[in-house]
Amino acid sequence: MTPFIIPFFIAHQGCPHQCVFCNQRAIAGRDDSAVTPSRIRAAISEQLAWPRLQGRPVQVAFYGGSFSCLERGVQLGYLQAVEPFLASGQVEMVRVSTRPDCLDRDAVVLLQDYGVGLVEVGVQSLHSEVLAQSERGHSVTQVEEAFALLHEVGMTVGGQLMVGLPGDSPSRALGSGRKLCALRPDLVRIYPTLVVTGSRLAAWYQMGSYQPWSLAKSVLVCVALKEFFDQAGVTVIRMGLQAARALEDNLVAGPYHPAFGEMVLSRQLFKKLRYILRQRCNPSLPCQLNLASRDRSLFTGIRNENLRRLQSLGLLENVDVFFNDHYPRFKMTLQEKQFLP
Ligand code: SF4
Repeated sequence: MTPFIIPFFIAHQGCPHQCVFCNQRAIAGRDDSAVTPSRIRAAISEQLAWPRLQGRPVQVAFYGGSFSCLERGVQLGYLQAVEPFLASGQVEMVRVSTRPDCLDRDAVVLLQDYGVGLVEVGVQSLHSEVLAQSERGHSVTQVEEAFALLHEVGMTVGGQLMVGLPGDSPSRALGSGRKLCALRPDLVRIYPTLVVTGSRLAAWYQMGSYQPWSLAKSVLVCVALKEFFDQAGVTVIRMGLQAARALEDNLVAGPYHPAFGEMVLSRQLFKKLRYILRQRCNPSLPCQLNLASRDRSLFTGIRNENLRRLQSLGLLENVDVFFNDHYPRFKMTLQEKQFLP
């Protein structure tokens, strides 16, 4: 069952500096920096009382900053506020996001001792030139060491990857994906780089020294990464930033679309459809294409883009499309009608 997550957004807390692309307050439109242990306790109690939880497992998340870079006393204050809910079983675990260079053994042991079960590591790129140009302030080796340590203690590990950072290219982004895969993440998020107000990237963009990737290019690279992670059995839990009014208000430039993840999935499905429909031996024979009902909107694509593409390639001639409630997502079969019962 999908867990219900109670998030605390600690924008930039713990960050040793601001990475060139980042302005957490602008992209999320919220900042719980004033959060205190007593407010954490109150917020969790309030959310646990909501009937909509309906038996779902509950997790508490600290996002938007570098949790393990916070002063030890601050980390303890936050984590101890969650402890009674972990002890009572009302909360199953805590998840945090942080930087790879803030994950030495002491830091990881502290997290584990206080119920953190999932650490999302801000990897962003595994190309040293991209990391340097984005002024991330850590190396590829530090990412590898952080993953090794988290795996060693049995933590669930997530990796956040960005495409289109300064110095990035499609081949570098795919190389980062391959290297991240080799680090065996349990889950991955992929974000296209956006230019937002208050970031250094916005100034570089205004000066003409940074050009964001187009939406089409970002989608295609993310499709390739998604296919790659799918083949490796790594779950991609998110592609593209959460659509938010604040993000749209603060967007200067870049490949933003409120349904970015849907665009990637839709394009990925299109590629599978094109492949399977091209396998027909005799396109003049009537066929039935079966797809999962839940993939109906992916099949048509945003503004019917997939449908138009398949039609213009002549791949839907003599093909009836059926949506099957029992098919899992992304499953598709093609049958010649003469062989149908
Ligand atoms: S990308 Fe991560 S480490 Fe860098 S400023 Fe943003 S929250 Fe902090």
